[in-house]
Amino acid sequence: YLTLRGIRKSFGRECVLDGLNLDVSEGEYLVVLGPSGCGKSTLLQIIAGLVRPDSGDVKLASRSLDRVSPKDRDVSILFQDDRLYPHWNLRKNLELACDRSPVKKHQSGDPVLELAQRLNIGGLLQRRPDEISGGQLRRAALAKALLRQPAVCLLDEPFAAIDTMMREDLISLLADFPRERGGGCSQTSVVHVTHDGEEAMRLADRIVVLGGGRVLQSGTPDDIYRKPQSLDVAKAIGTPP
Ligand code: ATP
Ligand code: MG
Repeated sequence: YLTLRGIRKSFGRECVLDGLNLDVSEGEYLVVLGPSGCGKSTLLQIIAGLVRPDSGDVKLASRSLDRVSPKDRDVSILFQDDRLYPHWNLRKNLELACDRSPVKKHQSGDPVLELAQRLNIGGLLQRRPDEISGGQLRRAALAKALLRQPAVCLLDEPFAAIDTMMREDLISLLADFPRERGGGCSQTSVVHVTHDGEEAMRLADRIVVLGGGRVLQSGTPDDIYRKPQSLDVAKAIGTPP
């Protein structure tokens, strides 16, 4: 469905991605796990079209995204340091994401308010981004990525700057979040990147561990936890020694 083949990317002399291959199925919740600096954000930005790989290709539903601009890709991204439009209140910011949804809405009612309430920011919709806290901003940015209902939703450390209690809520929300895209004809896939093994264990249909610019291991959370194939994989997932 989403396929990456032979992705290479260097910054100056530093080779960040070294011929990376990755497959994501339709509707799959994939967690990409790896230590700081291993290229997780770079990988998401390549999928979103914001960074060009030096070589390799990215295909979505068999179509090469090579010449598809970021805004024409059926992909949403929650950045590690996401920003909303500063001059608009939250409701306007979130409505814009809904308007950009390529999927016809079958939902009646007020999807922005419903999701905002589940994220505990329902009372803040009239505020501008500079009038809410960092954790609230993070949740608003998450709402924005989800409301778009893209083919692929990219989440870059969605729980950074969020306290433990709220993090629990968000894990349940993401685990249960309906990902049908109208008509029941297709489902949103998620690529969630993190360095937190526990988060990966709890959310992933499948985990991919990155290291040295490549995939070190790919498998179900259970597989990766019980049968890590290297010390780096065991460290990433947190298997006890
Ligand atoms: P973290 O978990 O800390 O967010 P990450 O896995 O997301 O790390 P990346 O942000 O993808 O890592 O960065 C991978 C490497 O590439 C880092 O060493 C970083 O310094 C380097 N890098 C990323 N973007 C650029 C850039 N625009 N110019 C130069 N170097 C970059
Ligand atoms: Mg990053």
